Amino acid sequence: MKMFHTCVQWAGALLYPPFCAVCGEPPVRGRHLCSGCAAGAARVGGAVCRQCSRGAPGAVALESESAVTVASGRLGASEPGLAGDSSPDSSPDLSPKGRLLPRCADCRARAPAFACAVAPYLAGGVVREVVHQFKYDGKRYLRRVLAGWMAAGLEDPRLKEEPPEVLVPVPLHWWKLRRRGFNQAEVLARELASIVAQAKSGDVAGYPMLAVTIGVEELLKRVRDTGTQTRLGRGERLENLRGAFAVRPRARVRGRRILLVDDVLTTGATLDACAEALLKDGAASVRALAVARG
Ligand SMILES: [Zn+2]
Ligand SMILES: [Zn+2]
Repeated sequence: MKMFHTCVQWAGALLYPPFCAVCGEPPVRGRHLCSGCAAGAARVGGAVCRQCSRGAPGAVALESESAVTVASGRLGASEPGLAGDSSPDSSPDLSPKGRLLPRCADCRARAPAFACAVAPYLAGGVVREVVHQFKYDGKRYLRRVLAGWMAAGLEDPRLKEEPPEVLVPVPLHWWKLRRRGFNQAEVLARELASIVAQAKSGDVAGYPMLAVTIGVEELLKRVRDTGTQTRLGRGERLENLRGAFAVRPRARVRGRRILLVDDVLTTGATLDACAEALLKDGAASVRALAVARG
């Protein structure tokens, strides 16, 4: 019995190490982060482009009744008096109710194929650290933290207005998959689906935008390794990614509302290329969700 007890303790310790993944302090019970680090994860707030979700420094969004309202403020307009002194979104902890601006100059010049890309958190500090440990240090258990953050994005009005039917992870090239051992986007998509399923089966109030639980389907494959893109600008990334993704043979895409899943949203070029492939095969709509915006 004692042996069994020890085994259970040992298994529990594996699931939840007794250290915060970021600072090493004792974590909140049953969590991977301490309360300080959990609180340090910064939400995207303020005004963002309604398509690519990039912030527009200096842009002013008119105060809106709800997050659904698209601000009619012009990009680049400067009206300092309106810049949020009385706004509920001006708190430093970046309210989840970011405001949506009209499309940014990049999206107007060359519209991405996805209807919108949503990322609830900022990829800095604690969030960046957790993403890094998850992807590169093999701490796959941190998927719980990351998918939990990602789930906040399901409340975004842009996803609520047309609920997705299926989660599609951004695929990795087979070579990278073999080196890393897992596709981070797929692991996150499955964890997100399980969070939604738990919320649906219990009486946890959550995700009313999804009428039923949502599944994960790997509808895409990466046909070309595009190398690392971190040093490339948006235009170069788009060029580099042209034709890099294809719909898998016999994948059911036609007429479906698809939610692409990735870990971090940077320029949106990868999601754009994925969405293009899905739309070409007849997807009804393609939206995207990432944990954080780079
Ligand atoms: Zn901590
Ligand atoms: Zn944009």
